[in-house]
Amino acid sequence: MRIFLIVLAIQLARLIKSINPFRISEGILKKKPSHFVSGCASFNFLFSFAAFLLLLIILQSSCYVSGYNTLNKNPTSQREKKYAAHLTLEEKYSVYLDATWTTKDAAALLKVFETMPFGLNLQFSRWHISDDDLENGIKIESKDKLKLVTISRNIFPVEASEEVLSPDKHLYYAVVQFVTENGTNRSVIELILQTRYGISVHASLTGVAPNRTPERYSAFENDDLMLIISVFEEFPPALHKIPQLKYIVRRIDTEERGMSYARPGRGSIVLAESILMRHGPYNLNDTRKIITHEKAHFLWAYVFNDQLKLDWAKLGGWFRDSSESGWSTTKERSAFVTAYAYTENPNEDMAESIGYYFVYPDQLRSCCPEKYEFIHNRIMLLYSKLHTPSNLM
Ligand SMILES: [Zn+2]
Repeated sequence: MRIFLIVLAIQLARLIKSINPFRISEGILKKKPSHFVSGCASFNFLFSFAAFLLLLIILQSSCYVSGYNTLNKNPTSQREKKYAAHLTLEEKYSVYLDATWTTKDAAALLKVFETMPFGLNLQFSRWHISDDDLENGIKIESKDKLKLVTISRNIFPVEASEEVLSPDKHLYYAVVQFVTENGTNRSVIELILQTRYGISVHASLTGVAPNRTPERYSAFENDDLMLIISVFEEFPPALHKIPQLKYIVRRIDTEERGMSYARPGRGSIVLAESILMRHGPYNLNDTRKIITHEKAHFLWAYVFNDQLKLDWAKLGGWFRDSSESGWSTTKERSAFVTAYAYTENPNEDMAESIGYYFVYPDQLRSCCPEKYEFIHNRIMLLYSKLHTPSNLM
């Protein structure tokens, strides 16, 4: 492009020179007066200077054009990045941002949209950022065929915040609200569970209870599944998907009320229906803690290596014996976050502690600071730096 413009400039200069009136008179006049010759020479100098300036202008504009052309190929400047994020959101997701969005906000939103499942059929939407606190950080209104979305300023990831494990989890959950139409689009909810966490929620597929009839299980409410998404999202991305954890089912718990359990050998978590009922005895945080606890059993079974388990058992003063659980501890009850963690074994101690780490971190920190540090440094921080689960710990 630039070479073409240079050639064009030279041709243009020649053209101007060829129509130069002095050149014509040069041919007519046989003898030129000396003052005319010197005048012509100075004209030639001026002319060359003007052509040089013209060339500079053209080259300058060609640089600009070539910079502009690279907009979508290799964005480098802030302005180009702004265009890249805004345009991609418009083109790929029909998301239009108003003037409240900075370059950084747009890039953060785009990053989250890019983690959504493929093939979502999204309506046109116009997005506004507000300083107000909104439930789940987002408010979605419909107007004709347009969706008006307001999003809270305070759910954007903050640089250098203490939230290092999954800094954009709140923004992620807000976008999940949007793409699932406030948690009502069941097929999109199940698609997210499947693609992001590798989870199916259909009891009939699990084979978890060959001796029981499927009637002992009930279908999840959409709200239950949205809750599972928000709980799983708390874990570092490398721990979102544990290949051996394939199913989560909801059991009707007329017996063993409130009992939820993990079955690592069968790839499933069974959640008691009563822990999911919002008017029941379990508050939302307790339910979150139970879901986290059950998932932690899969980490113990498939992700943690022997050294990590050994070090954890040592920290809890655990030793094998002939008691019912096969384990006892030399430590006091006060060194455990719950009575259950204290009476069972290192695996339950870990599951309880991870549940508290996410849901009631202050309680874990105050009873068992060393356990808090162990989980934070040797598990969560490590996995926040990895992309896929491994046995490298
Ligand atoms: Zn357990």
